[in-house]
Amino acid sequence: MRTLPIRLPVASGEALESWLIRLATRNRISALQLANVLGLTQRGRRSPRRDIPAESLRRVENQAGLAPGTLDTTVATFYQPTGWPILPAFRFCAVCLRTPGMPWPNHWRLPYLFTCHNHRVLLRDSCPACGKPPRLSWTHHAGLNTGNICTTPTANRNDICGTDLSRRPPRALAPDDPRLAAQDWIAERLQRLGGDDAIADLRNLHVLVAWLHGEPARGTPAVAAAILRSRSLRGRQNITRVPAATAAALTAEILPILDGGRAGASQPTPLLLKPQGPFTNGYLHRLAALTPDLRARALVAADRDLPTVERLRHRTCTLTPHLADPTTNDLALQRIRHVPEKLWPDWSHHLAAPTGPGPLAIAAHVAPAILIPGSACGDLRAATQLRAWTKTTAQVLHRLASENPGALHTICAIADYLDTVGSPIDYQRRRHTFTDVTEPPELGRAPDDDLGRETRQLHTRRYIFALLTGANLGSPNHAVSFRTSQDSAEYVTFEQNLDRSDQHQLRAFAADLLQAAGIREPLTWSPPFEEVGRLPGNENA
Ligand SMILES: [Zn+2]
Ligand SMILES: [Zn+2]
Repeated sequence: MRTLPIRLPVASGEALESWLIRLATRNRISALQLANVLGLTQRGRRSPRRDIPAESLRRVENQAGLAPGTLDTTVATFYQPTGWPILPAFRFCAVCLRTPGMPWPNHWRLPYLFTCHNHRVLLRDSCPACGKPPRLSWTHHAGLNTGNICTTPTANRNDICGTDLSRRPPRALAPDDPRLAAQDWIAERLQRLGGDDAIADLRNLHVLVAWLHGEPARGTPAVAAAILRSRSLRGRQNITRVPAATAAALTAEILPILDGGRAGASQPTPLLLKPQGPFTNGYLHRLAALTPDLRARALVAADRDLPTVERLRHRTCTLTPHLADPTTNDLALQRIRHVPEKLWPDWSHHLAAPTGPGPLAIAAHVAPAILIPGSACGDLRAATQLRAWTKTTAQVLHRLASENPGALHTICAIADYLDTVGSPIDYQRRRHTFTDVTEPPELGRAPDDDLGRETRQLHTRRYIFALLTGANLGSPNHAVSFRTSQDSAEYVTFEQNLDRSDQHQLRAFAADLLQAAGIREPLTWSPPFEEVGRLPGNENA
């Protein structure tokens, strides 16, 4: 194997391209030629490839007399944990380049590196003469000129630009410029890329900056204007094409979200994270790309701006929100087996607040809401399997949420309980098994109301049917559904007039029907308050 005649150590933090050019200069050969010899270029490409396999790096280290692993920090893959894209060319500090033979750092190819730490200036993106970013593609002049010379080929490709990049006037930043603080924040994390928290911060940064860049209207007016300006001038839609100044402005706007708002729910939603109406797929996609910790913080902060159904769906009304997973489409259809059409009476009373909807309205409308937490269905399809989702349903739920601030949390807690513990009653089977009650018993006492025998019999059927199935008799789709509001009011009176022995007789009759159908379940049940409140994350329910 060939070894190189003149050896050169890699400078701390140096980019592979920079080391190759310096090595070529020492050997008085073209850097492109050197890269070709070392097998670091791809056919037809005029610069070293970015995804150099580890075995190639080991081979080059061997040829160049470097310790194994030395080149790992010089390549783009070194920054892979951040999830950041790599710039197609280099940014540069003109002041740094005034030092002859100055190595170009690997981080000058990062999209969120925009200042020089040593000189406190904004990095430059392009050559002042030809306007091209330096080292975008190589010519055979790279290596035969010092590193500060722009070797971009001229239009006719006969010569190179030849401009001294170090003569580009630097753009100095005031010591208290927030862009410097932002850069220090990033640099500190890049220093410890092995740490999970550093990587999480850097990944989130990229997701949020790319989001803001894609939706400028979500930023402050100044940043939005800067993004639109850079787009219109240069047609730079991609985050790796934005100038250092725009990248700096974007980053400085994002950092308070990453760094400041750790207090959580008490913070106002940053403009960027503020949902505009129901979650769109694009919005969910952005949130899903964040780390779980930041995503949860964003969801809690978004809670107050969301429609009631979305607050339930993603559990933003709890301290443990999470995005509904689109792959668990059948979650609600699993849970529906444990949910009666009419909410359990004890929970209906529990949820009622003095000024909100009363227990009757809650019982009639709130049960379908239990199917929503975690459900990926965007159209309430799951809830309508149980009962039509009417305008009234939405209104009752909305009023309940505003009058009883803990109500949505409680609904999520019930859903969690049914998912983890379940219920001893399979309501779905009951709904399929019992569609009506024929030949109900005669109540064993003289009628003391003015209902006719037939009406009393209908009410008795209704009572037993509701016991068996948990049905809401206000739904129009049952054989014994209420026909008019007067009918419904009469039934309420009938029910109130039942004494203990009546109730006992009717429950016994229903229990017999259950047994005859081969169903070994308690006749009625409801989730125990104590246990629902004890589930992790539901302590306040
Ligand atoms: Zn510098
Ligand atoms: Zn140039």
